[in-house]
Amino acid sequence: MTMFNASALTPYFQPGTQGGQMRLDGQRMMLFYASAFTEYRRGLIDLCGSKATRSLITRVAYAEGVKGADLLRKLHKADESDVYNYRLSALIHELAGYALLDFKQMKIDIRRGIFEVDLTLKDSVEAESHLAAYGSSSESVCWLLMGYLSGYSSAFMGRMVVFREHQCSASGHATCRMVGRLADQWNEAERQHAMATGPLISQLSLGQAEEPLAAGANEIVGVSSAFHSVLYLVDKVASTRSTVLLYGETGVGKEVIGRLVHRRSDRSEKPFVAVNCAAIPASLIESELFGVERGAYSGATHSRPGRFERAEGGTLFLDEIGTLDFASQGKLLRVLQEGELERIGDQRTRKVNVRVIAATNADLRNEVREGRFREDLFFRLTTFPIRVPPLRERRADVPLLVDFFFKRFCKTHDKQPSGFTQDAVAILMAHPYPGNVRQLEHMVERAVILADHDRPIDSFHLYAFEDERHAKPAVNSVSDVTDLDSILRGAREKGLGLQALENEALRIAVSDAQGNISQAARSLGLTRRQLAYKLKQASLAGGG
Ligand SMILES: [Zn+2]
Repeated sequence: MTMFNASALTPYFQPGTQGGQMRLDGQRMMLFYASAFTEYRRGLIDLCGSKATRSLITRVAYAEGVKGADLLRKLHKADESDVYNYRLSALIHELAGYALLDFKQMKIDIRRGIFEVDLTLKDSVEAESHLAAYGSSSESVCWLLMGYLSGYSSAFMGRMVVFREHQCSASGHATCRMVGRLADQWNEAERQHAMATGPLISQLSLGQAEEPLAAGANEIVGVSSAFHSVLYLVDKVASTRSTVLLYGETGVGKEVIGRLVHRRSDRSEKPFVAVNCAAIPASLIESELFGVERGAYSGATHSRPGRFERAEGGTLFLDEIGTLDFASQGKLLRVLQEGELERIGDQRTRKVNVRVIAATNADLRNEVREGRFREDLFFRLTTFPIRVPPLRERRADVPLLVDFFFKRFCKTHDKQPSGFTQDAVAILMAHPYPGNVRQLEHMVERAVILADHDRPIDSFHLYAFEDERHAKPAVNSVSDVTDLDSILRGAREKGLGLQALENEALRIAVSDAQGNISQAARSLGLTRRQLAYKLKQASLAGGG
């Protein structure tokens, strides 16, 4: 029996009676026959096989679950237990018509990092679909529900949670039964099986041990569709000799992807050499890349090979390729075309066998237009471009990344905070991350350092080094209260309602924070999500 009624979601639900658009929490929804879902699902299985279909459905549902957590967070009651708030998840399943949930066991404590849920599902739409298309199955088939619950619970906890289906009504049981645990409480095989991600998740836990990573580099972590598109392209190109161009915003993890291409290629036993072109002065870049012969210029007392020669047989990763000067661009093009180079001050031509992976956060096309980048090199580099998406486009990966960095930094700094507060989770899940994965990594690291042993990470730990004044509560002294008193009196005289006052307070806070919503939220003692929601309401109510 569930404690809630799906009508709690009614304020967020606009049925498609006007303009043909049905919305839930502002997001467009569709209503379609379960029989159509059966057909889609059957078509996919026939086309791609059940393993690939399972992986696809699980991932998409995981991302949906993360979105569902955004919505239900609005119904959370801060003074209620995590168990109470978590139970709201049943609402979405009922509203969407997936199944009827019945929680058997629930041990949930975000602050202490505990998650143990055991539930049964009655009338699973997916089991019904599978039975209709294929008859009974020896395996569990509720991929959508499993993925959804994993995504929802991960976003709820701010840590990776994985659900497994232990019994399924498609195999003759009266109900389906699922068990959810924090990802690290399953063994690797169980985790992989549940998320249907195969090698991806194994890299999450094994990758680090295989090779030391450069400082600031992240491991390959992701279940989102955006991230999977990148992995798909990596797999296609890794085994070839093709030059690869990785482009995307700063901090998205381009070098990590570069290393992955290397690791999945037949060059993986050979060196991977990374050069940040922007970090080396223009006067030195040529000798750094191509090497120097003794006596080439005063100070060149020894001959030494450049990075190209040092990467022989392997991969050279050229970060911020857009900052290379023209002369080096010409030499680079020659290596790419002919596979040969001369050290500076040397007559001898040397053959090199190096695969180049270039990365940029600049718009190279624009650099070409402005005459700063050679067009021929541009075309040479863009044979196989891969866009690495910003973190805000792969929000479903946030819990997995938080989990990953949390564990890593607990180990590095020998500290063990117990988990996160609800506020901290809300901030982690809603942050816009202009600095991408690197920013998330730094946020988690400083929170781990600041938090106390055995105590949860709180919202203020995540922002500790930003402007101090935002850490203060909005009203914190007698004179502030008096000010507030006179403001309220003034407002009453002008006939302003509470809503208008609140909207004004929101406006001032946002303007004080120069448009930084997170900062504004902190100054008001709200989570970013709460403020964003209030702003949205205010703009809807006030017409702008
Ligand atoms: Zn099932």
